[in-house]
Amino acid sequence: MNKVLITGATGQLGKSTINFLLEKGVAANQISALARDEAKAAELKSKGVDVKIGNYDDFDSLRSAMQGVETLLLISSSEMTKSRAVQHINAIKAAKESGVKHIIYTGFMRTHDDPKSPLWFITEDHVKTEKYLKESGITYTLFANAFYLDMLMDFVGEQVLETKTIFVPAGDGKINFVLRNEIAEALANVLTTGGHENKTYNIGIEQPVSFGEVAKYISDITGVAINYVSPEQEEYQQTLMQYGVPEMYARMFAAFAVAFAADTMNVPTTELTQLLGRKPTSVQEFLSAKFKK
Ligand code: NDP
Repeated sequence: MNKVLITGATGQLGKSTINFLLEKGVAANQISALARDEAKAAELKSKGVDVKIGNYDDFDSLRSAMQGVETLLLISSSEMTKSRAVQHINAIKAAKESGVKHIIYTGFMRTHDDPKSPLWFITEDHVKTEKYLKESGITYTLFANAFYLDMLMDFVGEQVLETKTIFVPAGDGKINFVLRNEIAEALANVLTTGGHENKTYNIGIEQPVSFGEVAKYISDITGVAINYVSPEQEEYQQTLMQYGVPEMYARMFAAFAVAFAADTMNVPTTELTQLLGRKPTSVQEFLSAKFKK
């Protein structure tokens, strides 16, 4: 494997990708990890990973972290209160100045780019980053990641067997859900194999599912009949807030649900299956593992 720098390395996706690389036998000193907080990077350091301190907001730190790097895995920023596009473009510019040859970028799955979409506050930064990256002339690979399956229960509710209801304004929309660790495994596979130059992959399960189907799966697995109720967006937001969810998060959950209802993440794909060499974990399998304890 070429010398790689992985950003977001102290986050869940970055950390998991590094673990998959190490499991594959990649030498730890071949992996550089960008961290903005040295203390958070202690575990990586203890594994022999070459930790570079840097921040998407600090161009010089990015440029010095990228010296001698051939491949950059640019994991999208989690700072929702800033322009993530500006941060990502900083990283791409620094990569170009430092002679990086290939950038793998993790974005977000969507059927199309629509400034009127309720999820534009998420997708706009990805659209801008991907455009800039393609126009930079650097070889790219784009991961359009589905919605994390790890977060499904945030919508379903951990108490679903007591409430017997899933309450989400997602109508009959189908959503592609994917396990974060399987995205990481695919990233490690792409980093260690060729043939991914200038490709865009939809990273998700083969058949997206609706919340109606999720309710049916839980009912079948547990024997507890679960209803699916799709309220109006406003009623949903107010209900979350009544249960103590801060307004910003209530709005965010509602925006996702409304986008789900509009089928904006209804993207069937076999691309992750190909990258993993097996089918990714389905929603049914995830729920079976969760409830059959
Ligand atoms: P995490 O929140 O676990 O990790 C985000 C990483 O980005 C952390 O390492 C964080 O550093 C780093 N980071 C944030 N801001 C900066 C900055 N200014 N400079 C340098 N590094 C920074 O997210 P995940 O690993 O779970 O997911 C990866 C990305 O995927 C997220 O950042 C987000 O863009 C996106 N995402 C996708 C979802 C989906 O459903 N597809 C759901 C949620 C997020 P630190 O550890 O110091 O905070």
